[in-house]
Amino acid sequence: MSGDGRTETASVVDTLEPGVPCALSPLLRRIVAPNPGPMTGPGTNTYLVGVDEVVVVDPGPDDSSHLDAIEACGGERIRWIALTHTHPDHAPAAASLRERTGAELCAFSARDGIRPDRRLADGAVIDATEFRLRAVHTPGHAGNHLCYFLEEERLLLSGDHVMAGSTVVIKPPDGDMAAYLDSLRKVRAMPLRAIAPGHGPLIEEPNAVVDWYIAHRLEREQKVYDALAAHGSATIATLLPVVYGDVPEALHPVARYSLHAHLRKLAGDGRVVGTGLRGRWTVTS
Ligand SMILES: [Zn+2]
Repeated sequence: MSGDGRTETASVVDTLEPGVPCALSPLLRRIVAPNPGPMTGPGTNTYLVGVDEVVVVDPGPDDSSHLDAIEACGGERIRWIALTHTHPDHAPAAASLRERTGAELCAFSARDGIRPDRRLADGAVIDATEFRLRAVHTPGHAGNHLCYFLEEERLLLSGDHVMAGSTVVIKPPDGDMAAYLDSLRKVRAMPLRAIAPGHGPLIEEPNAVVDWYIAHRLEREQKVYDALAAHGSATIATLLPVVYGDVPEALHPVARYSLHAHLRKLAGDGRVVGTGLRGRWTVTS
């Protein structure tokens, strides 16, 4: 992705090596889970917020070596476990970590086998002695997606809403492109100094990256509309190589979900009609 003019980070050694705790700011540490892959980049970022009292954000896959690393880093000071969403690369370790630490499990909703002790609505706050962490509801990638705003450092833990190094897959019906764009604008309006994403390194030009995300989606939407208009009526299988010609073919099986999400948004805007991943779509205007 990038292209946003990233410069070197002066005081931070940003290692994305799995299992190695990395201090990113006075209140933020990161441990990368050992689950690298095409959809997870270097692996899922697990964040530890705070020193005296610790919130673990996204404990990741249920992997004992990763849980050991989290526990070694946060110890008995782990008071809360907070989930950005319940996808399998972010949430499954929550139950084991709760068992190990007695921490309170916080999430937007009960889903995917996750049963939170406390549900966090938009604006809900985790109050620690040194800091406040505020939940920001950001549906789009997932309906139950939260970002977390660390007020003291103007830092946003963005989960899969914004990633470093790639765009985000929007898979209907839980994934919703119109909601996703609204959630990007919501984050863009916040006074951010940095974004700590669910995958990849710290993002130090948050506004430039979010602007790029919004522009990129709108460009893709236009491409989808133009491709469909050229055919008048077509299926996703026909549109895919035209609209995602710039994306490696290996990613096309995933890209078709985002294409479907774009078509659903265009349908919501009244510009196309159609249904489903395999159905026929037609322009209306
Ligand atoms: Zn996800």
